[in-house]
Amino acid sequence: MTADIRHDWTSREVAALFALAFPELMFRAQTLHRKYFDPRAVQISTLLSIKTGGCPEDCAYCPQSARYDTGVKAGKLMNLPAVLAAARAARESGASRFCMGAAWREPRDRDLDAVCAMVEGVRAIGLETCATLGMLTESQAARLKSAGLDFYNHNLDTSAAFYGEIITTRTYHERLETLSHVRAAGIRVCCGGIVGMGETEDDRAELIATLASLPEHPESVPINALVRVEGTPLANSPPLHALDFVRMIAVARITMPKAVIRLSAGREDLTDEAQALAFLAGANSIFYGPRLLTTSNPAEARDQALMARLGLTASQSG
Ligand code: SF4
Repeated sequence: MTADIRHDWTSREVAALFALAFPELMFRAQTLHRKYFDPRAVQISTLLSIKTGGCPEDCAYCPQSARYDTGVKAGKLMNLPAVLAAARAARESGASRFCMGAAWREPRDRDLDAVCAMVEGVRAIGLETCATLGMLTESQAARLKSAGLDFYNHNLDTSAAFYGEIITTRTYHERLETLSHVRAAGIRVCCGGIVGMGETEDDRAELIATLASLPEHPESVPINALVRVEGTPLANSPPLHALDFVRMIAVARITMPKAVIRLSAGREDLTDEAQALAFLAGANSIFYGPRLLTTSNPAEARDQALMARLGLTASQSG
């Protein structure tokens, strides 16, 4: 079993996986998926934007950056009762994890107090908690851990080589540092990337090699397809082919066999058939609910119908 779990993946080895014939790639991904998971089980997370827009960062894909005119209005941090009402609704719709996202470069200590109260409240409702708040110091990560935070999301987004084309306001190294603070605090790590931003397949391989070579693999790996939002610098990027997205999922599954691989942003543009292939490639988590922060997501009824058609069930464990 341990031979499957490696932390020394090179970009070259991962590029060789991308180059496999599709049936071979899918077979390898399926074999590992079935070894470590029930292939019928899909973990369901709900994502709430607790503080929307007005972000000082310049991530080229993001409608929440204050630098781009995307029509997203900057809001204040939501209040606790509103967040808890959304968490109760998420639990009633079958979610097992509730993710709270704030468009900050990094949280101020005062904001962190408010988020810690949200984490405590959401846990009391019986949901796993996840937060994505930007960069964290060691002591901020420790505070979130003592509030009971289960997961922290901080994506690497892309390869170190391509990163400068997408973000200039924080470094790749700073991202890795936040991940190590989260890990050191004992919080489980949710970390993935985005495909379709103009990166090459080698960039995708480098991103996966970086994730799979962390001292511990992230417990959750969200794979996003770029949502081309009007007003962002990437609005006119060429569309991503669905099979390239499926390949990314399969390679993530092979290199991080025990991670939960999440179909994240961009799922609305995938056909049912492409989503079915993504599940076959080893995806075993989705975001559920009509919105993903500020972009739309498939309607819950469409997800329920697709899961029923494919014989998939919601798993309670993260
Ligand atoms: S991705 Fe996050 S950090 Fe980057 S601009 Fe958007 S909200 Fe800000």
